[in-house]
Amino acid sequence: MPSRLLSTVPSRWGEIMRIVVQKFGGTSVADRETRRHAVERVISALEMGYTPVVVVSAMGKAGQPYATDTLLEMVHSVNPGPNPRNTDLLLSCGEIISAVIFAEELSAAGHPAEALTGWQCGILTDQDFSHARIQEVNPKRVLALLEQGKIPVVAGFQGMSAQQEVTTLGRGGSDTTAAALGVVLKAEWVGIYTDVDGIKTADPRLVPDARTLPAVSGREVVELAHLGARVIHPRAAEIALEEGIPLRILSTTEDGIGTWIANGVSAVTGRGGEQVGDRVVVGIAHVTDRAQVTITGEGDLSRTQAAPRVFGMLAEHGVSVDLIFLSTDLIAFTIDRVKAELARRVLTTLGLHVKIEEGFAKVSVVGAGMHGVPGVMARVVNCLERENIPIYQTTDSHANISCLIKEEQLAQAVRALHREFNLDRNV
Ligand code: ADP
Ligand code: MG
Repeated sequence: MPSRLLSTVPSRWGEIMRIVVQKFGGTSVADRETRRHAVERVISALEMGYTPVVVVSAMGKAGQPYATDTLLEMVHSVNPGPNPRNTDLLLSCGEIISAVIFAEELSAAGHPAEALTGWQCGILTDQDFSHARIQEVNPKRVLALLEQGKIPVVAGFQGMSAQQEVTTLGRGGSDTTAAALGVVLKAEWVGIYTDVDGIKTADPRLVPDARTLPAVSGREVVELAHLGARVIHPRAAEIALEEGIPLRILSTTEDGIGTWIANGVSAVTGRGGEQVGDRVVVGIAHVTDRAQVTITGEGDLSRTQAAPRVFGMLAEHGVSVDLIFLSTDLIAFTIDRVKAELARRVLTTLGLHVKIEEGFAKVSVVGAGMHGVPGVMARVVNCLERENIPIYQTTDSHANISCLIKEEQLAQAVRALHREFNLDRNV
């Protein structure tokens, strides 16, 4: 996909302008006080000789008037199954309001700025409402504003399809807007400004003493993000890194260097490639609200084509699956808790024994350095065993091991694994 991002930037233009894309998340633009910090970040980029391009999310979290969840609730209160097109059109308003307010705050601070919707910014997507993918970016209007010496403030999370329908990019979509713009504008780096001071060894909401990682490899970040560390959207990391644009995760309110994400750096080797530790695990990620589906039948499941029927049926109904286990007498996997009812309804038509149990979470240990290192799995299972935390399923790749556990034991599991892999200590 990134190779299809259309760049209208003359070569080296980006370098001469020293463009940085600065993206501010929902809490960073929620009220005047935090917006003041965000505005200062843009001004200090200007003072350092950069040309900033700003991307904003909708203001605040659920309950605040223009937050995405508030708008979603509003439409659901009049119709529990709203038309996807109307829903995306409504949700896109949150970021537009935010962009206008931010542009006006910059202008009031003496730095003329103009708000742009996603489509004014040339962000073309497919028409997969609520999780559209960016196909092309034509930043003509952004460049025109920069040439006039104005700061573009782009509404994140949205674009337009070829049929001129307004689309949204899914949770964390403003990160993706920022990364895609960074690529087409040939930005020096893309800054993701948020309510934490960088990527940490675990979610600080569960592990208050989690440490901030000064540098993380692209691969590790993509892995962490896919496994639930919501500090950056996995798609944003993929887009930026495939095109070699470094990403930074920074605090909006606190000074600090944050986390650098680039190819060729890692949490284990440091930015200059120097060895800073012998860590095989860089962080613990988690996902909540999982439901486990277990399917058995009379005799050999493979004879009745059970797996193709089950996964075909789920795909048809837009239910994505994870942690898949297949054998001749058992099919097990997990789905999002909110899809449990739907899955129950469609799977019972297949004539199999289907059990769906809610209340699970997935905890993952992540690190590109674990590949080929013996004993990581042993440490994970021993650690959880010592804590009396039963494991219901596991899966692994070169750079992670994930375990399905009971949701009520999640915080305990994350903390125990964090200690087990010495993530609470500087090594
Ligand atoms: P924004 O609204 O700025 O996009 P998000 O809520 O999407 O912010 O992401 C920031 C949150 O990500 C933090 O408040 C933190 O609780 C959570 N988080 C989860 N895992 C991590 C991690 N490994 N490092 C930092 N933050 C994390
Ligand atoms: Mg986010």
